[in-house]
Amino acid sequence: MKQIQFKSSVLIALFSFLTLTNASFAQSMRLDKTSKPIAIAIHGGAGTIEKSRFTPEKEKAYRDKLAQAVETGYSVLDKGGSSLDAVTAAINVLENSPFFNAGKGAVYTYDETHEMDASIMYGKNRQAGAVAGVKQIENPINLARLVMDESVHVMLSGEGAEQFAKTQGVELVDNKIFDTEHRYKSLLKAKEKMKKAEQENKNYQAAHNALEVEYKVGTVGAVALDSFGNIAAGTSTGGMTNKRFGRIGDSPVIGAGTFADNNSCAVSATGHGEYFIRYNVAADICARVQYQDKSIEQAGEEVIHNILMPAGGTGGVIIIDTQGNISMPFNTTGMYRAKKTSSTPTYVGIFDDE
Ligand code: ASP
Repeated sequence: MKQIQFKSSVLIALFSFLTLTNASFAQSMRLDKTSKPIAIAIHGGAGTIEKSRFTPEKEKAYRDKLAQAVETGYSVLDKGGSSLDAVTAAINVLENSPFFNAGKGAVYTYDETHEMDASIMYGKNRQAGAVAGVKQIENPINLARLVMDESVHVMLSGEGAEQFAKTQGVELVDNKIFDTEHRYKSLLKAKEKMKKAEQENKNYQAAHNALEVEYKVGTVGAVALDSFGNIAAGTSTGGMTNKRFGRIGDSPVIGAGTFADNNSCAVSATGHGEYFIRYNVAADICARVQYQDKSIEQAGEEVIHNILMPAGGTGGVIIIDTQGNISMPFNTTGMYRAKKTSSTPTYVGIFDDE
């Protein structure tokens, strides 16, 4: 009996020792990570996103996909990967989902095709790559990355971008693979609304302006900080429903829809692109951080609420700095978003009150 008691106390002691060692190992890992923070934020578009339009199942499906995207990107960082790789991996998850207006779920142009834009930028050296108006690229963000890494240019468009894709071994896909029923219905609705507006003698421009915000937004993007202290930003989109063919939005425009510089911050935007281009939104936010010593939160609030909003520009941004701070301001009723850092667990948000 005594022997059994002795044996079990040895086992308990051994178990406690192992647990303690494990705990202090885990703690030292955490400490190590705290000294080199890693962080990522993503968005899946901003717009008229109201709770009443969601069934509990639909809401859960969106939240799960956002969590999957942010965790995919985070795990790249956690394994010591670069912010560029994390941004690309997170965006790929969103591009491959029909829920978001990029890749698989890209909206329709007036001509019933899909034209996509994407860009990526690295804060370490301000390298950047972008593609605009591509029709046959399954993951436009990957092609933007190739433009950055493998070409001497920053932005390639249309056929030229696709020809470059071929030289890089990227398979060209049929534009029909981006067809989805829900986006087609949106197009028909948008056309109907525009026809009505035109009958009221509004020209194309005015009629397009009359379209509700839900037809104009819904892009995806990511910003990340890696364990080397480098930040990056990327954005990918199908643009705006019912857009004219050839229309290019802010997403592939460096400084408007995407920007990254280790001296200030990294930004990915979503919203009514024409405003984001004219107000140079992403670069303006980072300039305020760099030259006015503002926090990313202050700078983001100023541009999104005090400048864009009065001008009539709707949308939002995700911002990260080299400390791993994240800010996600938007001036619409919602923005699909998520974040995860080495000191905070996964957060997923859709509406403006969470
Ligand atoms: N900014 C995008 C564009 O104008 C649309 C969006 O963010 O939803 O093309």
